[in-house]
Parts: sequence; structure tokens; C-alpha cells
Amino acid sequence: MKLEHDTLADLDITKLDTLSIDDIGDDHMYTGLQTPLKEDAFKLTNTEKKEKIATLFSEIMDVIGLDLTDDSLSGTPKRVAKMYIDEIFSGLDPRNKPKIALFDNKYRYDQMLVEKNITFYSNCEHHFVPIIGKAHIAYISSGKVIGLSKLNRIVQYYAKRPQVQERLTNQIAEDLKAILGTDDVAVIIDAKHLCVSSRGVKDDTSATVTSYYGGSFNETAKISELHNYIN
Ligand SMILES: [Zn+2]
Repeated sequence: MKLEHDTLADLDITKLDTLSIDDIGDDHMYTGLQTPLKEDAFKLTNTEKKEKIATLFSEIMDVIGLDLTDDSLSGTPKRVAKMYIDEIFSGLDPRNKPKIALFDNKYRYDQMLVEKNITFYSNCEHHFVPIIGKAHIAYISSGKVIGLSKLNRIVQYYAKRPQVQERLTNQIAEDLKAILGTDDVAVIIDAKHLCVSSRGVKDDTSATVTSYYGGSFNETAKISELHNYIN
């Protein structure tokens, strides 16, 4: 599957299927590489979105019985709205995509480069509670190299969306392949889902690992070399 570049022009709408929440229960579903966005996802300005979210969130708080006139709670709807748009879901907006500059591989370094333990915070799109994890990224230069901090920024961009871990893994990998002009990219994500630990089955010790091995990273020797660096 090929990732279309995340620009306003070619946003793809992935239609959600017709399964109901009762059919799905707590099982996490992964419907595709593209984050399922509406066609008019960016019709409202960010200011308009924040106003609307604040109103709707204050309704949720009201429905669950909270007193919004309390000093501690009165600012919460606006805080949540600002946090959604400016921070934790800012990666939905293609305008926030990190600008990436590549450099010539002047050192003629032709082995794998591994950037490990990139901490990220995302949110599960099924429960809207945090996913906390580490991403490990590796690539072999096809002639161009990328600034190390940019690998970090790419992870953060795709993490700042309602996510499922499988999609996060593949979105990072496909974007890196497109940017670096090579299939020789690997992404491993090791994450804890609070929807599993703090509720539901309440398993506090389990973690979820997902991986993407592209090009020469499919070779057993490359995979074990990568794992040696990470572990
Ligand atoms: Zn979840």
C-alpha cells in the first residue's frame, strides 16, 4: 500500500464500516493506513473548532453531573479544547507536518542508522485515553540523510492524532520511505495502552509491540542486527 502524501489536497476519506460498537466491543480495529478524516475536516478554523469543542465538552461534563460553576471546573472545557487542537490532536492537520530537509550523505556511511527510544504520547482512537510508548527507527541511506531530530518530529506528528498502534507504525514507515527515497526503513513501536491498563481488562504489565521492516530490513541478519542495537 502506498501512502499518499499528507497534504490538504489529497486527503483521503476512509469510510468506516458498518459494524456497531456492540459488534466490536473492546477489540481494536485497524481500517487502513490513512487516518479516517472527513472531507471537510478543515472547513472550520482552529478558533471555531476550539469554541465548538469547549461547548460540547461542557455538555459532557454537565451530563455526568459536574458543577461547571465550580472554580476548579469552569475553565476545563476551554482547556480541553485548546489541548485537543493545539497539542494532542495537532497531527491531524497537515499544516503541522514537520518540514524536512535532507542532506547529502557526505560521510559515505552505508550501514543502518538507528534512532532508538523516541518517547511519544498518543491517544487511542477507540477510547480517547493515552498510548505511551517508544519508537525505534532505522534506515539505510540511499544517498541522502535526514537530521536526527526530524526522525523524532515525524514520530511526534503522527502520534498527535487519535491512533491505533498499527497505523502509527505504518504511517511513520511509509512517510520515511517517501522522504528518504528508499524502502530500507524499519520502525518498531513498543507501547502501553491506558485503555488496557487503567480500565477494561486492567492489565498493567502488558505492552504492545508492532514493527515495519521495509526493503533490506526483511533480511534475518538485518533484523537481528537492529534488535541488538535496540535491546
Ligand atoms: Zn483503546
